[in-house]
Amino acid sequence: MANKEIENYLSVDYIYIPYEKNMKINIKDKEYIYKNTLLLSGERNVYSSVSGTILGATKIHDKKYIVLENDFKDKLAVRSGAKKNINNYTKEEFIDLINKYFHISDFDETSKVLIVSGIDSYYEETIYGTLLENFTTPILETIDAIIEIMNIKKCFLAISSKNTESIDILVNNLGTYPKIDLKILNNNLYMGNKEILIDKLTNYKNKNYNVLFLNIKDILNIYTILKFKRSATETYILLTGNLIDFSKVIRVKLGTNLADLLKEYNIKETENIIVNGLLNGTLLKDRNYIIDNNVRSIFINTCTKFKVNECINCGACLEICPIHINPKYMYHNNDKKADYYKNKCINCGLCSYICPSKISLNRDVVKNDKE
Ligand code: SF4
Ligand code: SF4
Repeated sequence: MANKEIENYLSVDYIYIPYEKNMKINIKDKEYIYKNTLLLSGERNVYSSVSGTILGATKIHDKKYIVLENDFKDKLAVRSGAKKNINNYTKEEFIDLINKYFHISDFDETSKVLIVSGIDSYYEETIYGTLLENFTTPILETIDAIIEIMNIKKCFLAISSKNTESIDILVNNLGTYPKIDLKILNNNLYMGNKEILIDKLTNYKNKNYNVLFLNIKDILNIYTILKFKRSATETYILLTGNLIDFSKVIRVKLGTNLADLLKEYNIKETENIIVNGLLNGTLLKDRNYIIDNNVRSIFINTCTKFKVNECINCGACLEICPIHINPKYMYHNNDKKADYYKNKCINCGLCSYICPSKISLNRDVVKNDKE
């Protein structure tokens, strides 16, 4: 169980800003930049999370980054001041701010149903409950503001039944927010998955629903945008695993190198670092990994090497798959049917987890960006 207090790791010397070919670079080497300066623009905009000096470019595992040396002054170019009422925006202004400062996948401006997931994507992550307990008011205010601004007709806040402390806090606070419908769901291995959760809450199976789906971290990002009219410069990650004797949620600057964070927490060199869950996360080659908004958890674990055996046709993978496709067929074949399965697969990792022959049925065949 994670310690419910959030720790800060914000004094990082260098920030790494990822850039891709099609992005416009708005800064030069040696230039001094203020916090929240627009550094890169394109399909998504990237802002600086600290103030400091641009040192140049570098490559980490074939990805390109601009390196920014932190001067620890957190100087902002323009101070716009905090807004008193974060629901005081028109829908157009809200959409404008979101497009400028954040990326919401499948953002549908016409959505009438809002689902906020407080259920962790992987059941051992335990991050959303900690955030809910630490930031109850900003989270509820922001959800309420989105309902108001976007003219949402139905809003569900889903949390896991195992998060009893969060349930108590929410039940005590939700009286002020009657438009937020709290849904307490039995915790199981895959309930935090977006598709499964939407399906469970809306019964819109196979229909062309237009749901705005956000998680608790998204809500905190949107809170910063609405309150300060700027992008969030920090994110929250859970540091956990069986090789460390603590488990905690840490607030970090976007663009922090994981290697620096692990050094700070005296975590010994290990090859077993898994980002975003043990079932379908990414096993890192080394500790140089740049933390962005998509990172939820870092597991530092012992890695047992399993012998992979032949399929014994037990059918367990077929039985457990929550979307009822054939994981074994998907793994062994390369035809249209297998492609169809790969497209449908939500990459929850349950089939690989249950397989007695230790066959990695999803990991290598389904793209991780489908999470
Ligand atoms: S990872 Fe496996 S169990 Fe999960 S949806 Fe895909 S095929 Fe089904
Ligand atoms: S769970 Fe593993 S052993 Fe059983 S049918 Fe699926 S792939 Fe084969």
